[in-house]
Amino acid sequence: MHELSLAESLLLIIEDAAREQRFSRVKAVWLEIGQLACVEQQSLQFYFDAITRDSIAHEATLHIIVSPGQACCGVCNQLCSVETYHALCPHCGNYALKIIQGGEMRIKELEVE
Ligand SMILES: [Zn+2]
Repeated sequence: MHELSLAESLLLIIEDAAREQRFSRVKAVWLEIGQLACVEQQSLQFYFDAITRDSIAHEATLHIIVSPGQACCGVCNQLCSVETYHALCPHCGNYALKIIQGGEMRIKELEVE
């Protein structure tokens, strides 16, 4: 159900943008998702198609770009990329990573008419 609510909020963002920027048709959406957001791409695609069926985005193609998570180690202070929330620091081996990005979702680009 996580992906369903993501698809719903995605459509809300697109509709807001359409009002502000006065476009009436969306052809493509580039969505950037942090690797740590645990989004299943296939089911997000599925719900996006279902939810946008009667909207201005009904013809839109959803492109999903997964960006790696980034963390900073609290022991050695080095930055590293992470795939899970519970990862070891690759530099010093401590469980002291603070996630600084990777759990978010944002629209990178909209192709509109
Ligand atoms: Zn470290």
